[in-house]
Amino acid sequence: MRKGNKLTSILGFKCPHCHEGEFFVDRNPYHLSTVGDVLDHCPVCNRRFTPEPGFYYGGMYVSYALAVALFAIVYIAMIVFFPDAPLWADAATVITALIILSPLIYAVSKTIWANLFMHYKGPHRTGEE
Ligand SMILES: [Zn+2]
Repeated sequence: MRKGNKLTSILGFKCPHCHEGEFFVDRNPYHLSTVGDVLDHCPVCNRRFTPEPGFYYGGMYVSYALAVALFAIVYIAMIVFFPDAPLWADAATVITALIILSPLIYAVSKTIWANLFMHYKGPHRTGEE
């Protein structure tokens, strides 16, 4: 994906300012001890990732929206592909999908939230903003 496109930052877990530096301490959201740990500064452009204390609490709204969307997609897929499945099987499949994908949803919700408020400024290195 080209730089300047927010999807580069959101799905690649890259800095929202330069789309080059890493955003998380650990890129793999399934390393549960570090999932969602955001670096203080971008290692490439040196811009801060936390504009104010508690900034990423807002990511909960994004996380909720993603979880509801996943719920709907999995539930509709169950109804379309397995119309005779009992309700408990639909519920078990939806809950299993939510549990398995929750670390990924958590990480993506933070990059989406950051990209709502931080915009592409190019890779040149700056002092702290
Ligand atoms: Zn950067």
